[in-house]
Amino acid sequence: MELYNRLNLFLKQKLGKRTLKICVDGGFTCPNRDGSKSINGCIFCSNRGSGEKILKQSIKDQVRAYLNSYKAKRANQYILYFQNYSSSYAPINILKERYDEGLNASDKIVALDIATRCDCINEEFASLLNEYQKKYYVYVELGLQTSNFKTHEILNTKYSKDEFLNAINILNKHHIDVVIHLMVGLPNETIEDIKNTINFINNINYQGLKIHSTYVIKNTFLDKLYNDGKYQLLDYEYYLNAVIYILTHIKKDVVIHRLNGDPLLEDLVGPEWCMHKKRVIIDIEKRLKENNLYQGIYYGKD
Ligand code: SF4
Repeated sequence: MELYNRLNLFLKQKLGKRTLKICVDGGFTCPNRDGSKSINGCIFCSNRGSGEKILKQSIKDQVRAYLNSYKAKRANQYILYFQNYSSSYAPINILKERYDEGLNASDKIVALDIATRCDCINEEFASLLNEYQKKYYVYVELGLQTSNFKTHEILNTKYSKDEFLNAINILNKHHIDVVIHLMVGLPNETIEDIKNTINFINNINYQGLKIHSTYVIKNTFLDKLYNDGKYQLLDYEYYLNAVIYILTHIKKDVVIHRLNGDPLLEDLVGPEWCMHKKRVIIDIEKRLKENNLYQGIYYGKD
C-alpha cells in the first residue's frame, strides 16, 4: 500500500506519463499588496510573492527558458504553473491573454495550475478555466493556511472564511480541481488548531493538499516578530508529528502536492532544517512506515 497519494503517480495516471511543472511569473500583483486590502501582505510573504525561484522575463520566454534547461529533459510534457502573487487578480481579458501566452508557448503543455487567493475567484474566472478544461487538466491552488480566523488576523491575510468557502463553491460548481495550502507552525497555533483545520477541510470538496512548514524570510513582518521574541522557529519534531496527523486524518484520495516549504537559502532566517527537503520527506515516510500508518487511516475517526 502507498503511504500517501503522491503527486507524481497521480499525474502519471491522469496525464499518461511523467509530467513536470514550468513555474512562471504572470506579472500579477495581489490585493493584499496593492492597497485594495492592504499594502503589507501576509506576514510570511516575501516581496517576491511566495514564488521564490523565478526570473523576470515574458511568460513565453520563461516557458522557453525552462524547456531549454537540463531540468526539462526529465520529461516530455508539462504543467504551466502561474505561481507568483495572486495569479487570477486581473481583468478577465488580461488573464486570458497571459494564460494563452504561456499555454501557446509549447504544445508539450498539458495542464494549467493557477495559484491565487480565495477573494480573487469569481464566476467569470471559473468560466474561463472551464474553457481551458476542454484541452488541459486545470486546477487552482488556494491558500487556507489555517481554519482559525483569529490566526488570520495575526497573519494579515485579509480574507474571510466566507470568501474561502465561496471560492470553493464556485470552483466545485465548474468541476475545477482545488489544491488547498496549509501551514504548520503559524504564530500562536498548537496541534489543536491543526486538528480543527483538518476537520474543516474534511468537510470541503477539494482534490489536493500542499503542506508548508512556516519559515521566516528576511525582512518580512514574521522576521520582525521573531527578532522581537514574539515568534519561535518551528520545531522539527513538532512539524513531523503535525504532518503525520494531517496525512492520517485526511481522505485517502486527496493528492499530496507538497510535504514541506521550499525557501531560498539566501532569504532564510530559519529554521535551517527547511532547506533539507529530501530529509524531511524521508523522515515523514520513515515515521509512517515504522508506525504502520498511511494516508486516511484515521479519516473520520477522531
Ligand atoms: S496572498 Fe499570497 S501573494 Fe498576497 S500577500 Fe499573501 S502570501 Fe503574498
